[in-house]
Amino acid sequence: MNKGRILTGDRPTGPLHLGHYVGTLANRVRLQDEYEVFLIVADYHALTRHVERDHVVSTREFTRDLVLDYLAVGVDPEKATIYVQSDVPSVCELHLLFSMLTAVPRLERVPTLKEVMDDEHLENPSYGLLGYPVLQAADILHVKANLVPVGKDQESHVEVTRELARRFNYLYGEVFPEPQALIGEVPTLLGTDGKAKMSKSIGNTIFLSDEAAAVEQKVRGMYTDPTRIRADIPANPEGNPVFQYHDAFNPDRAEVEELKERYRQGKVGDVEVKKKLAVALNTFLDPIRERRAYYAARPQVLEDILAAGAAKVRPISQATLTEAREAMGLGRVK
Ligand code: ATP
Ligand code: MG
Repeated sequence: MNKGRILTGDRPTGPLHLGHYVGTLANRVRLQDEYEVFLIVADYHALTRHVERDHVVSTREFTRDLVLDYLAVGVDPEKATIYVQSDVPSVCELHLLFSMLTAVPRLERVPTLKEVMDDEHLENPSYGLLGYPVLQAADILHVKANLVPVGKDQESHVEVTRELARRFNYLYGEVFPEPQALIGEVPTLLGTDGKAKMSKSIGNTIFLSDEAAAVEQKVRGMYTDPTRIRADIPANPEGNPVFQYHDAFNPDRAEVEELKERYRQGKVGDVEVKKKLAVALNTFLDPIRERRAYYAARPQVLEDILAAGAAKVRPISQATLTEAREAMGLGRVK
């Protein structure tokens, strides 16, 4: 039996953080035996907000870091196919075809558009930013993926993909699967500021590549319940990001339950809860650091992985494009 396919990925705009891990990376690693996994370094998607040359050039540097992040968390390059979006340009042709099938007001309603515009103080979104989910649909559908592991915030994008697949199939016959979003165990991890989701544009992140000392320092500065001014005040661990992180990353369940109980009774200080969190996080990150160091010392391996990835995806993408064009009536003129 053929395995189902997964496609997901990230923009090469900076290092990945704990939010990316629980939202999507953990699922990619967990499912790499069960599915044929495609991971895309979405460099064209990185141009949707900034187009200055320095920014564009920086995507090259960040591509390397992104691949290191993937390998460091345990993506197996023998099993998963990792490739750079712009290395497979036929996806742009599929994007163009899809753009004809998408209504502008539908894209204007995608919630991440407004969030990005607010966060980045953009008044006039570019045509490319509006079309972000359409390009993403082309990424997902040119390999006919069935499953898309993403964080909660991206669920609305996968919905656009599903609608496009349905519309295309309705108009031209069954070509595309209708892929499902797979949301991570923690749908949205809060940032260290406790206010918004962890996001590198906000600067409330703990990166997978942070050194142990940086993790300790960031955890020490984490937001906790501001009404709890002394350790002997009973409080609720729910909604406290320090405990959200304990739940997500501390495998010692008994320790976490015991800390929560003492927190409820006003018998533990923030300092102790945070110290134990820093230890748990660093224990989680240690094997990730080891694998990163292994691959960082082998830059040729990274290049080979990306070259092999593009070589594998190109014919798959081209075949889908040909099938879509023919279904639409754009076959060769005789
Ligand atoms: P950031 O949001 O940090 O600026 P980004 O915008 O480059 O990073 P996204 O495209 O937002 O990256 O995220 C890549 C993937 O990680 C998506 O599937 C997204 O849903 C998931 N993700 C990002 N941040 C979080 C989070 N805090 N919690 C859970 N999932 C997340
Ligand atoms: Mg984001």
